[in-house]
Amino acid sequence: MSSKPVIRFFLTLITLAVLLIPPYTDGVLAQEPTPQPTAGGAVYVVQPGDSLWSIALRFRVSIQALTAANGISNADQLNVGDRLVIPGLEGIRGTLTTQIVPFGETLRSLSRRYRTPVETLVRLNHLTSPGELYAGVNLVIVEGETPATPGRRRTLAPGQSLLELAIQDGVSPWVYLLNNDIKSAAVAAPGDVLLLPQSEATNPAEESPAASPAAMPAAMPAAMPDAIQKVQLTPLPLVQGKAVVIEIFGEKDLQLGGSLNERPLNFFFDAETGSYVSLQGIHAMAEPGLYPLVISATLPGGAQFAFSQSVFVEAGDYVYDPVLTVSPETIDPAVTRPEDAQWAALTAPVTPEKLWQGVFQSPAPPPYSDCWPSRFGSRRSYNGSAYIYFHTGLDFCGGVGTDILAPAAGRVVFAGPLTVRGNATVIDHGWGVYTGYLHQSEILVQVGDLVQPGQVIGKVGGTGRVTGPHLHWEVWVGGVQVDPMDWLLQPYPR
Ligand SMILES: [Zn+2]
Repeated sequence: MSSKPVIRFFLTLITLAVLLIPPYTDGVLAQEPTPQPTAGGAVYVVQPGDSLWSIALRFRVSIQALTAANGISNADQLNVGDRLVIPGLEGIRGTLTTQIVPFGETLRSLSRRYRTPVETLVRLNHLTSPGELYAGVNLVIVEGETPATPGRRRTLAPGQSLLELAIQDGVSPWVYLLNNDIKSAAVAAPGDVLLLPQSEATNPAEESPAASPAAMPAAMPAAMPDAIQKVQLTPLPLVQGKAVVIEIFGEKDLQLGGSLNERPLNFFFDAETGSYVSLQGIHAMAEPGLYPLVISATLPGGAQFAFSQSVFVEAGDYVYDPVLTVSPETIDPAVTRPEDAQWAALTAPVTPEKLWQGVFQSPAPPPYSDCWPSRFGSRRSYNGSAYIYFHTGLDFCGGVGTDILAPAAGRVVFAGPLTVRGNATVIDHGWGVYTGYLHQSEILVQVGDLVQPGQVIGKVGGTGRVTGPHLHWEVWVGGVQVDPMDWLLQPYPR
């Protein structure tokens, strides 16, 4: 007798069992069918890092209202990708998601980009003033159609009509209306950032400036000049103790400048990426919050622009070291301040030649290359002081006499003894990037030497104010110490 009918019988039974028995889950959220958006309702897709509490806070609804609307009984069962109905957003249809606001966008330009009315963005994000729209803020948007095709940015000058701008660009005003989801030309306002699709863009070299110096307002324009197409900040939000890479894509021969929290920015043209790049360190103890970023540009014709927007700096992930006990003169400002000033002054000049390439190699040879007794940024208290100090470098294992290697090409700008830092070397890698080597037993380079990656530049020691011999390695960017680990893990500018 064939066994096939028997097998088929059991397969049918198993199929029925699968269909009839609900899958085992220990949380109601995973068990309940995904709530479908009610008519006119808005659905939020749970993002990594979200909790019911953070979602409730974001949409200003109570946790009770949120759980009731979604039939949730176990808040621990919230999964990334779950779709939650947000109560109280009647009239807003679609899927809500979050987007980090890039530098240089306004509420109006974001409204066009995401084809969402300004009023909806304001309502979704409970914005009360334009100042709340800063670079790095996590903005709730309605995910709908494909975002508008990125293209060249154009800005309406005061007194300029959309028709005039269109004539200047040699395109029909309808191109602007259609590409920017504007219902009528009268809706466009001065300072609005409009997108002109790449294929419609005129050759920038042939273009008469959209805003002649005479037509430009004396005050800061509300949007980026059209000569600048994009300003990219990496990372965004900015992070304490990390270097930010500011990359500007725009027309040729721009003279760019600016400041980040009043620290001047220096831009260099990067032929590899065709962008202007500025690197700036964020102080490890900078208070998390908003800081002004100003970008200024002088066009080849001489017209000048400046654009300012707040950017968000978030806290880094730094530990608190146990209270350290040192001899009091080690932290005596009379001793430390002059040397700190001398040390900072060494890293202040910004040389235009970029000497490094890609990722830095470890300044310590194997087996010490990835042995770190103390990391950058840890908060420190000396002799019971407040935690007002931080570890300014990355410490490497290795005893007296261990080789110290240049992590990248650069020019030696300091080599000599210091009271606190001991025998120290500073190397300039260009573009405002410096590295420092402290407490050496021997220095094997001289000021002016051009060093190559892997070159032995000194020996580990215990000179200066140390508890034991080790290499303390610092990386400076734009006059600020940053986490050297980042430079061992990723290439800069990218
Ligand atoms: Zn150290």
